[in-house]
Amino acid sequence: MHPIPVNEPLLNGNEKQYLLECIETGWISSEGPFVKQLEEQFAARVGRQYGIAVSNGSAALDAAIVALGIGAGDEVILPTFTIISCAAAIVRAGAIPVVVDSDPSTWNMDVRQIEAKVTPRTKAIMAVHIYGLPTDMDSVLAIADKYGLAVIEDAAEMHGQTYKGRPCGSFGQISTFSFYPNKHITTGEGGMIVTDDAHLAERWRSLRNLCFQTHKRFVHEELGWNLRMSNVQAALGVAQLERLDQFITQKRWMGQRYTNLLSNIAGLQLPLSQTDYADNIYWVYGLVLDDQIPFEAEAVMYRLGQQKIGTRPFFWCMHEQPVFKKMGLFEGESCPVAERLARRGFYIPSGLALTAEQIERVVEVVQEVVK
Ligand SMILES: *Cc1c(COP(=O)(O)O)cnc(C)c1O
Repeated sequence: MHPIPVNEPLLNGNEKQYLLECIETGWISSEGPFVKQLEEQFAARVGRQYGIAVSNGSAALDAAIVALGIGAGDEVILPTFTIISCAAAIVRAGAIPVVVDSDPSTWNMDVRQIEAKVTPRTKAIMAVHIYGLPTDMDSVLAIADKYGLAVIEDAAEMHGQTYKGRPCGSFGQISTFSFYPNKHITTGEGGMIVTDDAHLAERWRSLRNLCFQTHKRFVHEELGWNLRMSNVQAALGVAQLERLDQFITQKRWMGQRYTNLLSNIAGLQLPLSQTDYADNIYWVYGLVLDDQIPFEAEAVMYRLGQQKIGTRPFFWCMHEQPVFKKMGLFEGESCPVAERLARRGFYIPSGLALTAEQIERVVEVVQEVVK
């Protein structure tokens, strides 16, 4: 049996042609024309005024926090069930991450628990859309409005998704995206910040480019980073963006196929197909083992691996990260829903290149393993 990778991107559109263009014109740095093209087209696609391409989605979060002026002593509320990049950006800025437990059915931040976490030190809410369904943004925005908080939307897993018909990536002061190869569209490594705020957009352009100045280039008023995206990366991105709608259709087909085939198997919680505000786009197809299954996700993943089926564990909670415990963060924190998801959840092959035969094979083996 051929291995079935957990993720494989599709690069068979105009990618090759645009990459060749980079080589033939000599434009390979961030000064090349594809960068601006990707920024403009992607921002337009998610309904934002400005797009600032950066080197990855984690860097986009770092820059987001700093440009909003979040620093020492400030608190930022975020889901505990997310990638380390979210909490790392907050901690690196000297601020304090305050975590919220997950909703057991959507796996997103349980918005009903946000308000209780607001203190006089709270500066922002970081909403992170998880795996395929958006966070309930109306609730997030209402709380932010009530307490005068900024909203950062991490839409790294949501290219092409909408919340109540409005594009993910259009909410709050700033939204961030990743173009890592397992995302819906990829630039190999890459990310983007999108915003409607002209002043913030200028700040990010400066921060990503070492805070060089227009007039006295090598005289610096502030410390930035080199977070630039190259023209070669952006060339891939422009070709990928042309096919975003097709990719979303493909992901939804994959998700529905899995759901049809897996729903007869006892002991598995499947992703919700929809909520009253969005249809799932299945960035990844996650499974959560019911309590009746006598082992944890790790054991199931091991057995799937023996059959050459790629899997990934679910996120590990921020409040359970050794690195943050060593810093004295999250003492006594408890988020039972997210803790259970982290132990009993994993995802199965979910890439754009997945075929109907591969899906059937994955389902067969999952059935065998959880029996
Ligand atoms: C992938 C991802 C990131 C990080 O993006 P990189 O480009 O890998 O740095 C951040 N947030 C979420 C929710 C992600 O899924």
